[in-house]
Amino acid sequence: MPYGYNGKILHVDLTTGTFEVEEPSDNFYRKYMGGSAMAMVYILREVPAGIDPLSPENLLTFFTSVVTGAPISGQSRINVNAKSPMSLGIGDSQAGGFFPAEFKFAGYDGIIFRGKSPKPVYLSVIDGVAALHDASHLMGKITGEVDAILKNEMADPKIEIAQIGPAAEVGVRFSGIVNMSNRLNGRTGMGLVMASKNLKAVVVRGKKKPEIADPAALIALNRSGPKLMPENADMDGLGKLGTASVVIFNNAIGTLPTRNYSEGQFEDAEMISGEKMAETILKKRDTCYACIVRCKRVVEITKGKYTADPYYGGAEYETIGTFGSYCGINDLAAISQAHQICDMYGVDSITCGATIAFAMECFEHGIIGLTETGGIELRFGNADAMLAILNQIVTKSGALGPVLAEGSARAAKMWGTGTEEFLITVKNEEAPAHMPQAKRSLALIYAVNNFGADHQSSEHDPYYEEGVADFNLDRLREIDLHEPPAFQSLGAEKVRFAAYTQIFYSMLDSLELCQFVYGPTWTLYGPKETADMIRAVTGWKVSIFELMKVGERRINMMRAFNVREGFTRKDDQLPQKFFKPLVGTGPTAGVALGHEEFNTALDLYYQLMGWTPDGVPTTAKYVDLGIEWVKDYL
Ligand code: SF4
Repeated sequence: MPYGYNGKILHVDLTTGTFEVEEPSDNFYRKYMGGSAMAMVYILREVPAGIDPLSPENLLTFFTSVVTGAPISGQSRINVNAKSPMSLGIGDSQAGGFFPAEFKFAGYDGIIFRGKSPKPVYLSVIDGVAALHDASHLMGKITGEVDAILKNEMADPKIEIAQIGPAAEVGVRFSGIVNMSNRLNGRTGMGLVMASKNLKAVVVRGKKKPEIADPAALIALNRSGPKLMPENADMDGLGKLGTASVVIFNNAIGTLPTRNYSEGQFEDAEMISGEKMAETILKKRDTCYACIVRCKRVVEITKGKYTADPYYGGAEYETIGTFGSYCGINDLAAISQAHQICDMYGVDSITCGATIAFAMECFEHGIIGLTETGGIELRFGNADAMLAILNQIVTKSGALGPVLAEGSARAAKMWGTGTEEFLITVKNEEAPAHMPQAKRSLALIYAVNNFGADHQSSEHDPYYEEGVADFNLDRLREIDLHEPPAFQSLGAEKVRFAAYTQIFYSMLDSLELCQFVYGPTWTLYGPKETADMIRAVTGWKVSIFELMKVGERRINMMRAFNVREGFTRKDDQLPQKFFKPLVGTGPTAGVALGHEEFNTALDLYYQLMGWTPDGVPTTAKYVDLGIEWVKDYL
């Protein structure tokens, strides 16, 4: 019996309604460890090149890891992967909550869905027993309603449910998969792939808690958490104010995207801050399974123009950024209502808010008018207009819903000339609320990340620039980063930082670890403790070197998938907007990325990664990572 994991993967053929249980070798688990690294093995081997992501040939994978469900903070996360309907390259999205740990307790480390069910179904996995059930009575229902029906139907209020919402059913391209009605595998359109398979929900419940190899070591690490929290200002802020604790900081350093990424400071940042949320609408803090940080928000608004039901949690920083400062909106109640609509209907709030901000900028410049908006004054700062358009998007109705439900890159193609300059997309994914004009290593990572612009695929620049606190630098030294470069540099040392921390974060995404708990700088536990935890749970004598190789393996398998789909250096490019000077106020006013510095950094990054000048992994790199088999599937 292995420590930490079940040793079983469930294969579900939705076309035939049949199941198979695979028991991979221990070596397979040690080499890939879980999450999207494990998923890529199946996706590379089985998904034919060039398929429509919404065809039955696409695979949809759910993977936990060898440490999911262990009794320690930051391990309850799950990855969903498939070919993405957004980028047409690899799709990848992660979510936390209680669903991931319960999934593991139900008896499997991963589930792979193939084919397409002839009618809507949901899958239940209860104590290792899988079954498909008719889901026609759930169709068209919002997430909270489906939760209630399924808990009643299965006569168990403690089942955990991951589901698609009505948005995926009507074909919103950036639909996600929602668990607890307030945690989302949001990005890259994984909900739409699930809808294309006629799979409405996955329900899990189980008693099979993972065996721990060294319980005493894990308990010691766990007990250190509450002592470390108050000593670590970043963690303390995250716990007390949630992810919105960074609104004020990002605004101060000029990286709070404002009015569709045209400015780096929002004059009303305080009105949408974590502090303001705590003072006004916060009802309580929430958490993920076994996590002491409790960074999740639960808000309630019962009076006034806009309302928020605590069942749907509360907005994260990214949601506040995209529906708030991106749209020039300073009303936390309106933003909270937008957050709730995204969770009820099941859409990615980053893509959704950013797409509305893009449409607002098109309206402000007269590229679209009242005819296209159906009479809505879609101006920055107009909260009513934002919510009206959001309601159109999630139902794919009205004048703008069907257009914007495709995301901003496809909307720009429909509207034509002049709109492209307002895009903030990479590989058709809208940039999150951290500005690469100031956080320049993020410029590189936004460009090269295999599933589009993403803020959780590497560490951010302020943690590796001159003047960084010893606490952060001491941890970065553990992965051989010793010499913080100057503010806003994108020189060689910053490229090394981008690549090394990208590999570290990729390892975290293979092990399904929360990046607020484990990381190379400010988090609760650093690299050493991350390795200590994995050793304690699995009994494997892992080194940081071995773990970094897992992360690098994942990046290279994803890259191989994209190469096979025809992606090249031309897809590792940034939108024009990032090369134009920012307007407005603050330390980033007038700041822009330079084409030459970006291309020089990109060249160096490819070389560091062992890729060709076109961004393609070499045979030597596959050998280095022990994945030469990938070449057979290119
Ligand atoms: S830090 Fe927050 S998001 Fe991460 S596991 Fe804990 S409660 Fe969940």
